[in-house]
Amino acid sequence: MANSRTDPTIAPVATDLARLPVTTLRNVGPRMAERLERLAIGTVQDLLFHLPLRYQDRTRIVPIGSLRPGDQAVVEGEVQLTEIKFGRRRMLLCRIGDGSGSLTLRFFHFSNAQKEALVRGTRLRCFGEVRKGGATLEIIHPEYSRVEQDKPQPVEEYLTPVYPATEGLQQAGLRRLIDQAIKLLDSTHYALPEWLPETLLARRGLPGLRESLLFLHRPPPETALEQLEQGRHPAQRRLALEELLAHHLSMRQLRLASNRHSAPTLHGNGRYTKTFVQQLPFALTSAQQRVGREIARDLVQAEPMQRLVQGDVGSGKTVVAAIAALQAVEASYQAAVMAPTELLAEQHYRNFSRWLKPLGIEVAWLSGRIKGKRRETALEAIGSGRAAIAVGTHALFQEEVDFARLGLVIVDEQHRFGVHQRLALREKGVQGAIHPHQLIMTATPIPRTLAMTAYADLDVSVIDELPPGRTPVETVVVSDQRRDEIIERIRHACGDGRQSYWVCSLIEESESLQCQAAEETAQQLTAQLDELRIALVHGRMKADDKEQVMGAFKNGDIDLLVATTVIEVGVDVPNASLMIIENAERFGLAQLHQLRGRVGRGATRSSCVLMYHPPLSEQARARLGILRESNDGFEIARRDLELRGPGEVLGTRQTGVLQFRIADLQRDQALLDELPGLAEILLCDHPETVEPLIRRWLGEGQRYGSV
Ligand code: ADP
Ligand code: MG
Repeated sequence: MANSRTDPTIAPVATDLARLPVTTLRNVGPRMAERLERLAIGTVQDLLFHLPLRYQDRTRIVPIGSLRPGDQAVVEGEVQLTEIKFGRRRMLLCRIGDGSGSLTLRFFHFSNAQKEALVRGTRLRCFGEVRKGGATLEIIHPEYSRVEQDKPQPVEEYLTPVYPATEGLQQAGLRRLIDQAIKLLDSTHYALPEWLPETLLARRGLPGLRESLLFLHRPPPETALEQLEQGRHPAQRRLALEELLAHHLSMRQLRLASNRHSAPTLHGNGRYTKTFVQQLPFALTSAQQRVGREIARDLVQAEPMQRLVQGDVGSGKTVVAAIAALQAVEASYQAAVMAPTELLAEQHYRNFSRWLKPLGIEVAWLSGRIKGKRRETALEAIGSGRAAIAVGTHALFQEEVDFARLGLVIVDEQHRFGVHQRLALREKGVQGAIHPHQLIMTATPIPRTLAMTAYADLDVSVIDELPPGRTPVETVVVSDQRRDEIIERIRHACGDGRQSYWVCSLIEESESLQCQAAEETAQQLTAQLDELRIALVHGRMKADDKEQVMGAFKNGDIDLLVATTVIEVGVDVPNASLMIIENAERFGLAQLHQLRGRVGRGATRSSCVLMYHPPLSEQARARLGILRESNDGFEIARRDLELRGPGEVLGTRQTGVLQFRIADLQRDQALLDELPGLAEILLCDHPETVEPLIRRWLGEGQRYGSV
């Protein structure tokens, strides 16, 4: 029989530190609570998870003679000389020595009393960062105290943590609060439950939660600082692993919850899909066929499909989406096709109408700009089920849009929407007990690191083949001082009957200034290329005008299209063969790849000119070089990720889900491979730990339910 004190079923229940507000600590009143709030600290658990950024070694006294510039060290020595120097600034210099060497302490702010106290022969203990001085090494404004000869002063027992601080709450204050939290962690009345099974940790040589936290707040003197500061110590890896696992599990849970819903089984009879594929002017690539089969198989299941189709720019995702939509229509259900921008949605609408009207299928069109009578008609067509397919922007998911029998939701270029929005959309598509299938398409390849965390709820298909006959886009990087040559290039290309894009950069923060800059560029180019038909398209234009310009460009009635980044995604004009991007150094690589993807869509040799404004930084040169060397979106995304980190790659809208407290997707990549296996173990063998684990790291509210 176990001792009753260690039997968890009988032991008095300890309070979870996750539920203990910081305000229960000493010296935490409303003002302090507010400062802690700024550091995202609300509970004692948060405080314990507030890990040091770095450490100082104050555990030993370093001989002055062995100091090197850059060291942060404790030294002890006797004052040899104290003097005030009058240079450009008045300053106090105090030289100390310990027999092994001497060191200068330099103060720009000091009091007379301070100077008086630093008499020759006084013993001082100092701490600070050592740097090169004049005659000796020096420390500017060291922390220092007097040491009495007969009263030896102890050194620190642990490495000294340096925490992320905030105004009104600096290191000393944080250390005192964390000391209190650690005391609670040591007490039997409080606990931070361990949710990871011991065997699982032991096998990986990782410490327990409590042990990890104690270690990281109080590392023993012999700890290797370098490993710790790189975040690669087992204690740090253990916490990062737990955090990543919590995120992964949270996505898995969403998926499981979704699987419990029922979806319409969309058995097609091939009536539309066959005809559609036959009348296409090309044969599907084998990658399109394979992905098509994967989708078709999902659609006949009674649980909602959650599939992400990744395919590089121009790989032909739209056709694959259309086939999926037709399968839904054959099964007497509706499909909704949503795109992130008006322009792209319109283009889909035009394609779908052109493809499907001959089959006798009505396609409805809805965007925020559709008002009045046209809107009513569209809503009626969708609501009555007369329109089997609805294409639009996110306006498709507003309250008043009511689908008669929605079976499939297709979201294009989903990276523009963000994870929360995507998950919210899934909810909005729900009609009664029936959850529609969801197909997500993206040309921004999701690096594996992100897929493991932000997209763990999705199945993934990859269209890893471009349609035949495409010649890779030749890319050059050119200084804007050679603008005239570039203009000649346009003259030449358009003179040959081809078309060009000129993308204006993002110099201005505000959209209206950006559009103004684009207008000026268009005017200049019109003056220089007066034989060409030049038009402008930007985000501030009326939808009708934009549509008209795009339509004219598509028809070949315009030679040169000057545009802001509104054309970034999806726009498809095969005759366009030259793309000029101004101030390319300001764009992200994935975005440049998207823009470049607007050319090289036909059989003509296409080129892309990345124009930069000198001087070009080393980093920028390296980044543009990547684009010049590679036409492979996956490769580019991978290298972009290396250079800029995940938040940047997917755009700020995605960062919500990527803000980890401890984990770092870059640094902790090796842990990601473990997540699916670990998640499986927890879900099967320790299901009771899953919810609390998610709650610990993602909080109560974070259910991705709302936009
Ligand atoms: P993306 O994957 O970037 O969305 P699109 O669906 O816009 O690409 O397709 C790009 C172009 O390639 C379109 O003009 C489309 O009609 C064409 N296309 C799609 N599939 C094929 C194919 N198998 N063979 C030839 N052209 C194709
Ligand atoms: Mg597309």
